[in-house]
Amino acid sequence: MSLGKLFGTDGVRGVLNKELTPSLALKLGMAIASHYGEGIRVLVGRDGRAGGEMIMNAVIAGLLSGGAEVYKAGAEGYAPTPAIQYAVKERGYDVGVIVTASHNPPEYNGIKVISSLGIEIDRETEKKIEQIYFEERFRLTPWTRIRDKVRIDDEVLGTYIRGVIEKVDKNLIRSRGFRVLVDCANNVASLTTPEILRILGVKAYTLACNISTQPYREPEPTPSSLREAANVVKTLGLDLGVGHDGDGDRAIFIDEKGEVWWGDRTGALLSRYIAEHKLTQHVPRVIYTAVSSSRLVEEYLREVGVEVRWTPVGSINIAYSLLENGGIAGFEENGGFLYPPHLLARDGGMTLALFLEMMAREKKTASELFNELPRYYAVKTKIPMPRDKALEVVKALINEYKSRGARVVTVDGIRVDEEDYWFLVRPSGTEPVLRIMVEARTPEKARQLAEELAEKARRLGTA
Ligand code: MG
Repeated sequence: MSLGKLFGTDGVRGVLNKELTPSLALKLGMAIASHYGEGIRVLVGRDGRAGGEMIMNAVIAGLLSGGAEVYKAGAEGYAPTPAIQYAVKERGYDVGVIVTASHNPPEYNGIKVISSLGIEIDRETEKKIEQIYFEERFRLTPWTRIRDKVRIDDEVLGTYIRGVIEKVDKNLIRSRGFRVLVDCANNVASLTTPEILRILGVKAYTLACNISTQPYREPEPTPSSLREAANVVKTLGLDLGVGHDGDGDRAIFIDEKGEVWWGDRTGALLSRYIAEHKLTQHVPRVIYTAVSSSRLVEEYLREVGVEVRWTPVGSINIAYSLLENGGIAGFEENGGFLYPPHLLARDGGMTLALFLEMMAREKKTASELFNELPRYYAVKTKIPMPRDKALEVVKALINEYKSRGARVVTVDGIRVDEEDYWFLVRPSGTEPVLRIMVEARTPEKARQLAEELAEKARRLGTA
């Protein structure tokens, strides 16, 4: 968090009481109210991580000082990010503010600002709020017009759960008697996903579905953090497992054999399923995904006449592409999936409901579905390097591969797609490292390519 810049890839994030303090939260609340003006209706909520109550109350104080009418998502403010986003859109709020650090380690917290459409605010609005914040141009409301009561909106979770259920075929899912494990990372998806499963007639097995500031695993759902969940799915012979991140907007699936699958695989399957079974009106046969998604997405979706468009990393880029151009869906390899008829934002609960409907309609097990996809083996590595050096390396690689006539995508770093492999080299948005990601048809080839690329990047980075 440098001076003059508050917002990162996805809201304001920082280590609690180091970068992210109550005074920052208070001033940000004042800046938000000053930007939108007196009398705005704001829905505020949070996840269950440490410091949430403190940061949320500081934001609320700032909002009130600018004359906002503040509502809290239930008495504690607990709700998954997509539930708050959905409620902002459906219940007529002007703005939403969510205190969450999503999948970051437990010492982090953060603040996200949501527009009336239920989407993260755009970069322009972020800049305007930052300017008010740094120049301290706060518009404080005269005492006679301050709203002195924070109201409680008890309908946030219910509105959201009904919103998910009405977009799938409940009876079809019910008819299959599925048994599903859900791992909520001891956070706010505990309030919604088990209930969604219950309404869908699914027998839910819960792991870490108590809200706690001490998560039993890292909040990011990955094959390593979901190892225990995967063992339970396999041992109990369940049909499916799902792991959420801290604020419940991601869903990573575990098949009945205990294999954990990345979100680009899920995204490809669901996009194909939606294109074949769920399009009710004219929608461009296009999906948006970040350049970090596997090229198998393109190979698989081409077969059903769906075009893939690549965006920079960060779900906000996918959301605004869908908003401007329309499309079937958008997704990320980290487990974020956007279903436009529901919300132009990632939603772990909606993704799970769609996945169950796909299994029910197509009468296939999760492993059968995932194994339909072309097989690629991935290697991910990172090289410590200052950002300016990393950018130079990317530039040199772009020149080299373009002059060779390779298929190059440059919306975020460099992505090259060759006959039987692809790779992505990009500077990280959050750390001083250069990220390298390679996928190939065999693990040996992927490893070899990753080593060659790392070697070349190091040489270019020290030249
Ligand atoms: Mg998240």
